[in-house]
Amino acid sequence: ELLNVKGKNIVVMGVANQRSIAWGIARSLHNAGANLIFTYAGERLGQSVRDLAATLEGQNAIILPCDVTSDEDIARCFADIKEQVGTIHGLAHCIAFANKEDLKGGYVDTSREGFVLSLDISAYSLTAVAKVAKELMTDGGSIVTLTYLGGERVVKNYNLMGVAKAALDASVRYLSNDLGAQGIRVNSISAGPIRTLSAKGIGEFNSILKEIEEKAPLRRNVTQEEVGDTALFLMSDLSRGITGENIHVDAGYHVLG
Ligand code: NAD
Repeated sequence: ELLNVKGKNIVVMGVANQRSIAWGIARSLHNAGANLIFTYAGERLGQSVRDLAATLEGQNAIILPCDVTSDEDIARCFADIKEQVGTIHGLAHCIAFANKEDLKGGYVDTSREGFVLSLDISAYSLTAVAKVAKELMTDGGSIVTLTYLGGERVVKNYNLMGVAKAALDASVRYLSNDLGAQGIRVNSISAGPIRTLSAKGIGEFNSILKEIEEKAPLRRNVTQEEVGDTALFLMSDLSRGITGENIHVDAGYHVLG
């Protein structure tokens, strides 16, 4: 049995509501029998995560606050996780942020403050979290983050977030090399566009969805479930030979010229 996440402790960071990609990942992991630990930013989202987690039958999830802009918050959160479960086997990082005004018009107009904030939350946070989480991955582990094609190519309106994803993608490669000797794999999933709270901030998002439907090899958009199932694969031993990789779950759109 290589699809072996049953009984494994997996941290899922970034559930905001039921449309969140993190929630799709959580459901796939839950259905495969993983023990889930949710982290969220801000008490407003805490209730939302508690309500959602309560719908997972037989799942007694641990739910903790963790604002990734704060090293103290990250340290406290993972100390709490260590106290409650000891070892973790996986971590799904599903976190990004950019100010709305930086997701339209020209990238060239990005402000210094907007750049620093977005790169901090969307890229550095993976490294900050990996640094602490690896100490709890005493049996090896799998770290999965979410990226987008806009980090590899110019995608209209994605702008600053594309630059943040490029930094995130490079972080995946460097982290995979740092943590590989410890049996920890680090990979990303490049999801096609999905209507979520964060996606609302991107200018003309509906026209992106429409273009995928017309042009992607599969002629349709992807779902949170499809991303969730790929995360499940990456968390399991089915993917044991894969690290430093980016898997596109985008109906094939990235192959088009
Ligand atoms: P979402 O809004 O549901 O999730 C984003 C999460 O980031 C939220 O839970 C939010 O609370 C969290 N976050 C923001 N600032 C934080 C902070 N300081 N500390 C901790 N958490 C913080 O939207 P989503 O689309 O599910 O986004 C999840 C990931 O998927 C992001 O990395 C996003 O870039 C990526 N992604 C999304 C799409 C898409 O089309 N929706 C496509 C490719 C990649």
